Amino acid sequence: SSAPSPIPATLFPGDGIGPEIAEAVKQVFQAAEVPIEWEEHYVGDQIDPRTQSFLTWESLESVRRNKVGLKGPMATPIGKGHRSLNLTLRKELNLYANVRPCYSLPGYKTRYDNVDLITIRENTEGEYSGLEHQVVRGVVESIKIITRQASLRVAEYAFHYAKTHGRERVSAIHKANIMQKTDGLFLKCCREVAEKYPEITYEEVVIDNCCMMLVKNPALFDVLVMPNLYGDIISDLCAGLIGGLGLTPSCNIGEGGIALAEAVHGSAPDIAGKNMANPTALLLSAVTMLRHLELNHKAERIQNAILTTIAEGKYRTADLGGSSSTTDFTKAICGHL
Ligand code: NAD
Repeated sequence: SSAPSPIPATLFPGDGIGPEIAEAVKQVFQAAEVPIEWEEHYVGDQIDPRTQSFLTWESLESVRRNKVGLKGPMATPIGKGHRSLNLTLRKELNLYANVRPCYSLPGYKTRYDNVDLITIRENTEGEYSGLEHQVVRGVVESIKIITRQASLRVAEYAFHYAKTHGRERVSAIHKANIMQKTDGLFLKCCREVAEKYPEITYEEVVIDNCCMMLVKNPALFDVLVMPNLYGDIISDLCAGLIGGLGLTPSCNIGEGGIALAEAVHGSAPDIAGKNMANPTALLLSAVTMLRHLELNHKAERIQNAILTTIAEGKYRTADLGGSSSTTDFTKAICGHL
């Protein structure tokens, strides 16, 4: 059979440990013969006036054109007159939902071995609107924005995700008993969408109770959808349930079907350049990108190779209690392909 023509995808290696773990992804993809052609874009050292940040217009255009990409962590360079790189991406590409799957890795023992959760975080508004100011001395105000449009969009995505991924339940996480208007509107939108999906069980859980339930028994949940700040916090809680930030992938969904996958973790400056980083989170993010492209067979193979390597326990990075380098761990994964 003839080889399929390669699919172009954007790659931002990012900074800190980014280039090291991006290299791991490239090697694993090569070993698995994934038909992806990477278009690499680096974070620049000059501010692009068209984006007001170190991300160039060409980088953004690459994602818009390819509609799929993988992003390494980006540390926000300190200075004035530019926007945070992550915020630039989110705003310019309208990345409205952040999907964070979180499941127990077989063979890596934690307190639970039955975690299988999907956190879907609204990614554009809530407390992250950047609207903070001082009213008078000693009094500041932060404005939380919830819109019907963004809430419907993320709820729609959550239910669609549940339906297309064989999931049975969507839980909307909120604090509408206190934030009656904002979280109230978010819930109203979730309810509206839920009516269109009678096959999916819908429930509403107050965030504080949700935290308690997650820690006591994570199997109580399936798909969780929530406003921005709650999603930020809950997804790190979920990462903790399965072994930490070195393991958890995510995918940003944007307007027009854009999917930009990235690890949940940051640039880890403490271990950057030391060949110590765990590439699993970025690798599993790349796997979600493959699933988005419906390259399910390749996705499955790579995921199995990663899980087998971790389960065998011979090659593990320091964050999982091992002593393997990034490159040796990556070689072991390639060996399983
Ligand atoms: P971090 O996630 O970079 O690091 C937290 C801790 O986890 C560190 O001890 C680090 O060594 C460890 N860690 C993270 N990823 C790891 C991996 N793959 N393997 C092994 N250990 C790993 O968080 P931070 O220190 O708060 O942030 C550092 C920088 O990253 C900041 O500039 C922050 O703004 C940025 N950041 C970027 C993103 C992103 O690009 N999406 C996300 C979070 C933080």
